[in-house]
Formats: sequence, structure tokens, C-alpha cells
Amino acid sequence: MPADAIVQAETYYLPPPPRRGQPAQDWSQVPGAELIYRWAEYRLSRRVPVPTETVPDHPGLYARIDDGRWLAECDACRAAWIVSVRDPRFGCVECKRDWVPLIVPEDIGAAEQAALALGVSRFWWHPDDPRNPNRPEPEPDPEVPADPDPEVPQP
Ligand SMILES: [Zn+2]
Repeated sequence: MPADAIVQAETYYLPPPPRRGQPAQDWSQVPGAELIYRWAEYRLSRRVPVPTETVPDHPGLYARIDDGRWLAECDACRAAWIVSVRDPRFGCVECKRDWVPLIVPEDIGAAEQAALALGVSRFWWHPDDPRNPNRPEPEPDPEVPADPDPEVPQP
């Protein structure tokens, strides 16, 4: 991933490091919106079934770029999650709701370029900072806050 790319589900929710003597998990065929369910299971020890239904008549939630990450905020529980803008469905592993349509820009590349041009996402993160979204495979740790955006109040 280029250093100036916007983080999204596909680059954030990565498989756990392989256990000794076992093959690495391959998540390359998992749809982008469903990656968070795999990730939550090992990273947050939270087993949430992938939704099979869509919330009826929901107008959709807007995706935004926040600190260089594509985010959407759940309007049921206020949890914010990194999302896939190429598989625009929003599911919440906090309140375990059904899918909500994710509203993404028509030109995703242009939105990313605009954010990068503003410079607002060009923060520096220490490689060991648990909030660093680009951190390579952190050790699973239930003490680590589950919410990628702690500014959003939790229920
Ligand atoms: Zn929620």
C-alpha cells in the first residue's frame, strides 16, 4: 500500500499472523464489507454473524475520510468503523444490526486525492502506537480499545 493511501477496510482488517505450523489465512476472497466480522472475531474476541438482511427503508450512512481513514458512524449505537468504499454496505459489530447502505462518493479516487491534498490526513504515527491504523499486525490484546475512533462516545 502506498504511504499516502487512504486506509479502508481492505487495508485495515487483515488476517491474524499465522500460528506456527499452520497456513496463513487468506481473506482475499472475503467481500470488503464483511472483513470487519472476521477481524472482530480474532481482534476483539467478538463473534458476530455476517448480516443476511438489510435494514428496511434506511436512507444510508455517509462514508467520510477521517485522519486518513474511510469511516462511517453507526446511527444506532454511534460506534465508528473503518469501511469499504468499494463494497458499500455498513454493518456494525457493536450493535450487530443488519446491513445499511453506505453512501460513497461517485469518484472515490478524487475524494481521496482531495483529502490528501488538504494535508489533514498526513499525521505521523509511532509504529508501536496502538491507535496507529497502519500498524503491521498488532498482537491480539483484549485491553486495546475496540473502537477505531474513541472520540465517538460508546453506549
Ligand atoms: Zn451500531
